[in-house]
Amino acid sequence: MEEKVCSKCQGTGWVLVKEKEHTVARRCDCFKTGRAQALLEGANIPPRYRECTLENFEIHNDSHKVAMKLSKKWVHDFPVLKWGILFLGPCGVGKTHLAVAIIHELIRGKNVPCYFYDFRTLIRDIQQTYGAETAKTEAELLNPIFQSQVLVLDELGAKRTSDWVEETVFYIINNRYNNKKLTIFTSNYIDRGEEEEDKKFDHFRKEEPSLVDRIGIRLRSRLFEMCKVVSLEGEDYRRKVKQAGYRL
Ligand SMILES: [Zn+2]
Repeated sequence: MEEKVCSKCQGTGWVLVKEKEHTVARRCDCFKTGRAQALLEGANIPPRYRECTLENFEIHNDSHKVAMKLSKKWVHDFPVLKWGILFLGPCGVGKTHLAVAIIHELIRGKNVPCYFYDFRTLIRDIQQTYGAETAKTEAELLNPIFQSQVLVLDELGAKRTSDWVEETVFYIINNRYNNKKLTIFTSNYIDRGEEEEDKKFDHFRKEEPSLVDRIGIRLRSRLFEMCKVVSLEGEDYRRKVKQAGYRL
C-alpha cells in the first residue's frame, strides 16, 4: 500500500514552530487527522454504514427532526453526559444511521474511541469463543466492548433470548453502566412500558413481541435507567423523547 508522507512534518507528527527566540515542537495537523482515521478504522463499523453522517441523515417527519436534534446535542455535550440513547422504531427509519453518525462525529471532532457491534453478531461471536477452533478468547472479544468510550449496540433483541444470552448481555451492559461508559442502542421492538409487568394484561396483548419479550424485564429496566429513549416512528409523535428532564 502506498503511504503518503506529510510534507509539513515528513511523517513525524511534529512540526517546529518559532516562538520569539525559542523554537518549540507542536503536533502537526496530520496527527489529529491520522488519529481520527485510526479510530475510525478500529471502530468496527460495517461497510454499509461507513458513510452515515448527521449531514446526510434524511429528515422525513417530526420524529426524525427530534432525533436529529437530540443526536447533535449529545455529540456537542459529550463527554459531559449522564445518559446513553436508545433509538426505538421499525426497520428502515434511520436508527442505525443516527447511531453511526454520532460515533463518526465523536471520532472526527473529538477523537473519542468508539465501537460498533451488531447484537446478533455479538451473540454469535461470544458463542464462538467457546468453540474449539476459535481465534479470539472471550476477553479479547469483550475488551473493546468494555473499554470503548462510546459503544453502539445495534439491533438489540434481534436474536432470541435465552437465559444465557440475557445473562451475558446484562453483564456487558451493566459493566459499562458501572464504569460510567456511554452506550447507544437501537432496537426494532416496541416498548409497551410499565403495563408490561402487569400480568393482567397478558390476555389482551397483541401477538407481536415487545422489547421485554426479547431482552427480559431486568435488562429493560437497566436500559431505561441508562438511556434517553428516542422513538423514530411515522405516526405517533407523543413518545419521541419519553423520559422527562431532557430539554431540547
Ligand atoms: Zn504532518
